[in-house]
Amino acid sequence: MGPVERAQPSVAAADPEIAELITAEEHRQTDTLCLIPSENHVSRAVLEASGSVLTNKYSEGYPGRRYYEGQQVVDQVEELAIRRARELFGVEHANVQPYSGSPANLAVYLAFCQPGDTVMGMALPMGGHLTHGWNVSATGKWFRSVSYGVRRDTGRIDFDEVRDVARRERPKLIFCGGTAIPRTIDFAAFAEIADDVGAVLVADVAHVAGLIAGGAHPSPVGHAPVISTTTHKTLRGPRGAMLMSSEEHAKALDRAVFPGLQGGPHNHTTAGIAVALHEAAEAEFTEYAHRVVSNAKLLADDLLARGFDLVSGGTDNHLILIDLTTKEVGGKPAAQALDRAHVVVNYNTVPYDTRKPFDPSGIRLGTPAVTSRGMGETEMRAIAAWIDRAVEAAKKEDEAELKRIGDEVVELSRAFPVPGVG
Ligand SMILES: *Cc1c(COP(=O)(O)O)cnc(C)c1O
Repeated sequence: MGPVERAQPSVAAADPEIAELITAEEHRQTDTLCLIPSENHVSRAVLEASGSVLTNKYSEGYPGRRYYEGQQVVDQVEELAIRRARELFGVEHANVQPYSGSPANLAVYLAFCQPGDTVMGMALPMGGHLTHGWNVSATGKWFRSVSYGVRRDTGRIDFDEVRDVARRERPKLIFCGGTAIPRTIDFAAFAEIADDVGAVLVADVAHVAGLIAGGAHPSPVGHAPVISTTTHKTLRGPRGAMLMSSEEHAKALDRAVFPGLQGGPHNHTTAGIAVALHEAAEAEFTEYAHRVVSNAKLLADDLLARGFDLVSGGTDNHLILIDLTTKEVGGKPAAQALDRAHVVVNYNTVPYDTRKPFDPSGIRLGTPAVTSRGMGETEMRAIAAWIDRAVEAAKKEDEAELKRIGDEVVELSRAFPVPGVG
């Protein structure tokens, strides 16, 4: 060993309570099927980088322009992450410092808007994100936000509506992307409208960034001058975010992140992001991204065959939104029953939902995490069958059936180890 002796106690010795909880969470993840479309299982390498001594270092500023000394190593970490982001997504500029997706989006507002300016995004209950101007978010309180949705008959974005609202309201920013969109985002169609009204198009690709990196979803590059993404969803990195842009907007975005909104970047996270970007550039990740989509399509087809009503009639990506209205059970009791059966999803509003957001009509599921565990067609068919049985059991409050499903799920789950665990 060199001058660094690793004699520090581990979590188990230093804090058995937290160590036990971490182990319990490892067991929970191993014994359940994670179908939450915004979650994933990161690699051991990403875990190690994000749990490293880089957490100790303050480095306000950007590589080569810091406000603290001792940046010999940290500058290289951030430069590597930036270079990898630029190469992977083919962008001129990348900022890897945003703490998470929400602050990344807030930085976009800060870069382009004054309080009270008009901004436009997809309405939250239609599949948008809180930070696209929804009223309970700071972005809805401090800016004048207008929204668009999906068509009632198709469940898809209504570009006539997008164009009408944009022409009437003249927003400074138009956000595209969201949290419950099962279909391909048509960046070119948004770009045409943004150009027409002189708005800056922001592609928030948090959900599909990994699919874009792997070539399983079109890229917004060339259409959206500003791209925002989290790093922890399909991209399979640590919790964090990135802003990417053309050179034209680089300075404004960098200034908005620091010193506009944040202090020191989370360097351990930057290292984890760099590792994830490195992994995402491998051929194996391209395969992964395509498998995420083919698994989602298999699952969707099987659910449709079982009489489930899917918003937009299916999926193009990693995500499926089920409207349970025809199954006569609410989204919340269904999600809770599925959880008891070790199948983890979240309840979600569906477009034009008639129920309350706290107990909406839908559940949202996705395939990024189960695909990271190596699951494929056989497992998708089994999952569709379990969802079908669990929803019926939820309706009848049949706890014995949920227990039976849970036992079967555990048996399958244990055959597919969680990356990074054990
Ligand atoms: C997840 C998500 C965010 C926010 O990310 P956090 O890291 O949870 O703050 C923003 N936009 C979209 C579209 C998302 O899906």
